[in-house]
Amino acid sequence: MSGASPGPTGERFTILDSAGPKSVQTPASPLVQSLFGLSIEQLSGVIAHFDEPNFRARQLAQALYRDWHADLDAITTLPIALRQKLTSAGYTIGLPPILKTFRSIDGTERYLIGASGNQTVETVWMPDGDGAEDTEADDATPARRRATICVSSQIGCAVNCQFCLTAKLGIERNLTAGEIAGQVVAVLRRHQVELGRDRINLVFMGMGEPFLNYDAFMDAVRLLVTEVGGASGVGIPVSRMTVSTSGIVPGIERFAKEPLRPRLAISLNASNNTVREAVMPITRKWPIEAVIEAARAMPLAPREKITFEYVLLGGVNDSIIHADEVVALARRAGFSSKVNLIVWNPGPGIPYHQPPAEDVARFQQRLIARGVPAFIRRPRGRDIYAACGQLKKTTEANS
Ligand code: SAH
Ligand code: SF4
Repeated sequence: MSGASPGPTGERFTILDSAGPKSVQTPASPLVQSLFGLSIEQLSGVIAHFDEPNFRARQLAQALYRDWHADLDAITTLPIALRQKLTSAGYTIGLPPILKTFRSIDGTERYLIGASGNQTVETVWMPDGDGAEDTEADDATPARRRATICVSSQIGCAVNCQFCLTAKLGIERNLTAGEIAGQVVAVLRRHQVELGRDRINLVFMGMGEPFLNYDAFMDAVRLLVTEVGGASGVGIPVSRMTVSTSGIVPGIERFAKEPLRPRLAISLNASNNTVREAVMPITRKWPIEAVIEAARAMPLAPREKITFEYVLLGGVNDSIIHADEVVALARRAGFSSKVNLIVWNPGPGIPYHQPPAEDVARFQQRLIARGVPAFIRRPRGRDIYAACGQLKKTTEANS
């Protein structure tokens, strides 16, 4: 384990002491080489090694990312001899398996998905969306089913937000691009999703900080979109993907320059730096103004908004004064934005409390009255520890 380990008093501040974002190792290459997760260029390299024509790489990409095959032998578009050569050379598809499922009374499912090194990662399926009531322009198009998949980017997290259960794990390791995109495909397969008929949104809001595993996260995005270097990708448009960051400024700066990128959500969670430092110590490294400035450099699509996520912590950040500060921040930011209010989800050993429903409504009304679009996110899967900030490799759920 290469992550931040708890100090004598249990704090994990490693990330704040270093000059830049903490680098965490990805797992060493296993003897068995997974094909799932390779880009079209990498698949071309594999195919060239076997002296096969390059169109075989596109067929392989189609089989992995569009047809979701889990077994090399099932890829009948490839000649048997090539499948055998790949198998003897130690290649497998390596689609991550769903090891355990917890089902909530609200239909949400939380999965423990296998990762290399006998580790697991958590992914959540939320039928009917993630509870952030928002009407995107294309929502008028009828869809047979709608669901949002919440995807993890790391095992654990180094950022140490005081209200988040994942922070208690510390960082164990980065996920690879295949492990990130593999969560999505494993869940799509489980639910026999038909991407043409079902409306699937992805939120990179599971365990971990995506912008501290930037390259693997963006490689996964490129596998999940419609086209991968001229070959088939999984087929989910970037406009249906949202990545959430705790405010890693160098990550936002890189992201702002990406030609193809998901929507951005910023975990604001406090209306001024003093409160934010107390709940998100990373604010000492990157204060609110720096985060907003980095986001301001990002060109937005015509109807695109940047989301500010705001976890309401009773008595900490939920007063009318805080709401007015959020309004001022959103106005100063200058870009098109909206606020998603998330009532804090409790977790064992986390010393906050939920604000009463009337305070939540009052906060939302204040933002709306002052011209800032604000939505209250319905909690999903709280009973199975699947809600925001509750992911922590637990098998203790009551399901
Ligand atoms: N690391 C990224 C993405 C994962 S956290 C980030 O922090 O943005 C996804 C969202 O869950 C964040 O907005 C975070 O503020 C929120 N969150 C964390 N713990 C929570 C909790 N206990 N209750 C409600 N929301 C929580
Ligand atoms: Fe990490 Fe996000 Fe949890 Fe903060 S809220 S500890 S950044 S997962």
